Amino acid sequence: MRSHYCGKVSTDLIDQEVTLCGWVDRRRDHGGVIFIDLRDREGVVQVVFDPDSANFSEADKIRSEYVLKITGRVRARGESTVNPNMATGKIEVYGLALEILNTAETPPFPLNEHSTVGEEVRLKYRFLDLRRHEMQNNLKLRAQVTSVIRRYLDEQGFLDLETPILTRATPEGARDYLVPSRTHDGKFFALPQSPQLFKQLLMVAGFDRYYQIAKCFRDEDLRADRQPEFTQIDIESSFLSDEEIMAITEGMIRQLFIDVKGVDLGEFPRMPFAEAMALYGSDKPDLRIPLQLVDIKDLLKEIEFKVFAGPANDPGSRVTALKVDGGAEISRKQIDEYTKFVGIYGAKGLAWIKVNDLGQGVEGLQSPIIKFLGDEVTLKVVERVGAKDGDIIFFGADKSKVVSEALGALRIKVGHDLNLFTCDWAPLWVVDFPMFEENDDGSVTALHHPFTSPKCSAEELKAEPLAALSIAYDMVLNGTELGGGSIRIHNQKMQETVFEVLGIDEAEQREKFGFLLDALKYGAPPHGGLAFGLDRLVMLMTGADSIRDVIAFPKTQTAACVMTDAPGTVDPLQLRELNISLRKKEAKETK
Ligand code: ASP
Repeated sequence: MRSHYCGKVSTDLIDQEVTLCGWVDRRRDHGGVIFIDLRDREGVVQVVFDPDSANFSEADKIRSEYVLKITGRVRARGESTVNPNMATGKIEVYGLALEILNTAETPPFPLNEHSTVGEEVRLKYRFLDLRRHEMQNNLKLRAQVTSVIRRYLDEQGFLDLETPILTRATPEGARDYLVPSRTHDGKFFALPQSPQLFKQLLMVAGFDRYYQIAKCFRDEDLRADRQPEFTQIDIESSFLSDEEIMAITEGMIRQLFIDVKGVDLGEFPRMPFAEAMALYGSDKPDLRIPLQLVDIKDLLKEIEFKVFAGPANDPGSRVTALKVDGGAEISRKQIDEYTKFVGIYGAKGLAWIKVNDLGQGVEGLQSPIIKFLGDEVTLKVVERVGAKDGDIIFFGADKSKVVSEALGALRIKVGHDLNLFTCDWAPLWVVDFPMFEENDDGSVTALHHPFTSPKCSAEELKAEPLAALSIAYDMVLNGTELGGGSIRIHNQKMQETVFEVLGIDEAEQREKFGFLLDALKYGAPPHGGLAFGLDRLVMLMTGADSIRDVIAFPKTQTAACVMTDAPGTVDPLQLRELNISLRKKEAKETK
């Protein structure tokens, strides 16, 4: 139908005839001359019709978002009308023929300018929202990302293999989406939280290197960067060490950034989990911000002040300081804001010391807490964190989890507020994760998932599960976890031990994971892999504010689709076939 994309018409085509198809981005009538900005996937071009044009009367009829086919001659714009903000700004197309392929009603929001319309409306008319330049670019970049990744993995000998969507629960720590079975009364499929077990079975089956750009489903309460269905770049391989897997996948992400963004991320540093928590209060530290936490527990054990001495003497607590260079300028009002901010993470307050003039000793410090710490301890703290004139020190003293989360988040917030970034991209690998974390009731949960290989023997694992480290690795970029994985357990006994530590008894092991335990008996190779979150990766690469802006048809914060109105009610007949009866609404509400 057409000879060129609108956005690709260039000065090379001057004096040539082109046929373009697209949508009317804008139409302006300048005293008899009609200008149409015609838009397609590749961009916008200006078309001009004057009263001499054959189809001038047609041009007069058209409105925004009409679909047109235009034939015209490319000509250079006069110097005064060149538009440097437009890729096609040096030329225009003089309209010779015009065909209206379709008309359009006035869209509910304008598509050709930055739209302030609410996201609900954008999502309801997503087919229109996606016509916007920004959304077109995001999704085009997404396609480029998957294309580069497929090429890279194909070249490395990975096979693109599919795994089922209707399956059994895979424990990745979230709630399952369930699908009732019509043919097996009272039974349910679970949608995969990840292809984890199937990819491991593909290794047992000898496929050696697998990947899949896989849809995964997790029924979680949605946070800003979560979606109930999301896409993973899922990878598994046999006979490769953790180092080899990290090298291949690091190469993949580096290649991706070079091809798509022209940026070489360089070699990724490694950081043990314990160090990440100690210095950054997070297992996905944003290393663009140079601020670090400094533990001061040992300095505060003897003081009277319970707020600090309590946690300083409690093994489950942490007392730490965050020095911010030049932070003495932070106002009281801002400190109050930060106090509220750390409250979100459960911190009960935010103590601080401003260093005005160290030459004067304690006299040169300003803080509501010096009288509680005592001069000697105060000066020791200032020395420990290496504060100098003009700095501020913030403190956290509470349960370790609260302190790490609160001061870890404060570190990022202050870094943003004071624009302390030292670079644009800061990738790293976090390694040496613990196998398990302890729940409040003393039971343990797998930090990654229960198929992760520990670094120790089964006996050691059983004896001291919370001390065990795993052969797991997370790739982090700018404080976002891009992906994570591990070397898996390929030994049946070890797998049973891990289940046992997790409190999954033999009967439950057989019922839920019998197929895996069986597979491990029949010559399972050493194997491992990882998965990247494609949506988050694309979000970082596009700089989009929301994960929904890089997904064509995302769900809202309440896990619904306002365009199709899903989830929807179903015909009672369908429910009857499934043997499902719905509890009465009132009964649920009075519960
Ligand atoms: N299945 C894991 C996840 O979805 C990733 C992996 O271990 O490969 O987080």
